[in-house]
Amino acid sequence: MAARSGRQFLERLSAARVHVEIQGETVTGHVDDHPAFRNVIHSYAELYDMQHDPAYRDVLTYPSPTTGEPVATSFLIPRTPEDLDKRQRAFKLWADRSLGMLGRTPDYLNSALMALASAADWFAQADPAFGDNIRRYYERVREDDLLCTHTLIPPQANRAVSGSQQGGGALMAHIVREDDNGIVIKGARMLATVGPFADELLVFPSTVLRNTPEDKQYSFACAIPNDAPGLRYLAREPLDYGRPRHDHPLGSRFEESDAVVVFDDVHVPYERCFVLGDPELCNGFYTRTSAVAHMTHQVIARTTAKTEYILGLVSLLTEAIGIEQFGHVQADVAEVITTLEMLRAFGRAAQADAGPNEYGVLTPAWAPLNAARNLYPRLYQRFPEILRKLGASGLMATPTWADVTGPAAADIETYLQAAALGGAERVALFRLVWDTCISAFAGRQALYEYYFFGDPVRMASAYVNSYDKSPYQAAVRAFLDRDETARQVPKAGYES
Ligand SMILES: Cc1cc2nc3c(=O)[nH]c(=O)nc-3n(C[C@H](O)[C@H](O)[C@H](O)COP(=O)(O)OP(=O)(O)OC[C@H]3O[C@@H](n4cnc5c(N)ncnc54)[C@H](O)[C@@H]3O)c2cc1C
Repeated sequence: MAARSGRQFLERLSAARVHVEIQGETVTGHVDDHPAFRNVIHSYAELYDMQHDPAYRDVLTYPSPTTGEPVATSFLIPRTPEDLDKRQRAFKLWADRSLGMLGRTPDYLNSALMALASAADWFAQADPAFGDNIRRYYERVREDDLLCTHTLIPPQANRAVSGSQQGGGALMAHIVREDDNGIVIKGARMLATVGPFADELLVFPSTVLRNTPEDKQYSFACAIPNDAPGLRYLAREPLDYGRPRHDHPLGSRFEESDAVVVFDDVHVPYERCFVLGDPELCNGFYTRTSAVAHMTHQVIARTTAKTEYILGLVSLLTEAIGIEQFGHVQADVAEVITTLEMLRAFGRAAQADAGPNEYGVLTPAWAPLNAARNLYPRLYQRFPEILRKLGASGLMATPTWADVTGPAAADIETYLQAAALGGAERVALFRLVWDTCISAFAGRQALYEYYFFGDPVRMASAYVNSYDKSPYQAAVRAFLDRDETARQVPKAGYES
């Protein structure tokens, strides 16, 4: 099929029979028309349309190696610095479109699949069929331009015991049996962002939690069509309240939905399995294949776009009400600028220091990406705090579109004017700030940035444990030894 248009994306969704439980309603199809999802689905359709827009298509697509038709750039296996640069520009184009608010645009998991399929030999070490499976699956997702979601972690029942012991072992999705042509999965996993309107579900190992030899049944990787029998999503309350764009500028466009995934004896044919009953392979899944590096390469482009948006927003806010000259305000804005420049530097360093992995894939350098991955979850939390602090009561002087265009229009124009804006313009800006730092949508964004790549606390532990600190320890030891020598020299001199 090649790179899809928005219409093709919508047509496929409309025909799918995805089972979603939401607010007491059982949805079994036509999610594209459902009020909880239709606005964000429209935003996703716009991304697909960009692939056909002459202004973007050269960056967003490349010729398929099998058909020559244009397919999405996020599937491109980078061999040269130009390839890597093209991938980065494609990530950034899409991220800019949503101000970095859409976390699970297709390029995130396409990047993972690209790296996993390129490392097919690594999968083949358990069974050559797994190598073929991952390669074929990647090609299928590429050629049909499918939207994937993924689910990685156990339900949150008791974190004092391992994932596989939640609820005595019954809670976390696991293989209950195998038959002639596949496996059967039962249990649940957290937490599939965009699950209700994806085409495919990837059931992959966690990026952070380690599997032990006892976790065999829980240690697998496979892909499932989103409307497979027995598969259902428990979606959270939607944060798109169907309000005018003016009132909820972000929530009415970019509310991605998150859902717990329930597997009720879901059958997965072997050709859709990539790892089976192998805790060790699960533990190396992202690192040994470089998938984590390519996913983080996409993430850094998105978080750069998001930080650019925050900088634009905070500077318009401070300019609007004439506070940009105050020292502490400038210190806050400087914090946003520093974060932005740091992300850019990490991104550039990762590309500049890229090298081929053992499968010949040009892979961005992991050290700067890992630093960004460990920093941003914490740094992002400051942005809503800064916006709240600087917006102050103005964030509550935010009448709705009905007021701006209704009987209160004259009052709004007079009393809600700002130094640099008319009343209605100021309200529009402040509603955007409110949707970035106060609304339920904003709260979910902050939670997302903190957790979407795994628990930052355990990520930091893994970071510290894997980082080679020995050269720095040696340098300090050498300094101490030097100090010791220095202390001894005058003593010796004095005595002689
Ligand atoms: C908005 C959002 C979207 C998400 N989207 C996806 C998605 O698309 N796909 C997906 O698979 N996952 C997704 N996730 C899940 C994400 O991977 C997890 O939130 C993350 O891995 C943390 O796991 P948890 O939520 O179970 O937290 P928990 O593990 O329950 O942790 C809760 C708290 O307890 C602490 N804690 C728990 N256990 C330990 C321990 N052993 N050592 C130290 N501290 C501990 C943590 O530090 C944390 O403070 C999403 C999460 C959010 C919030």
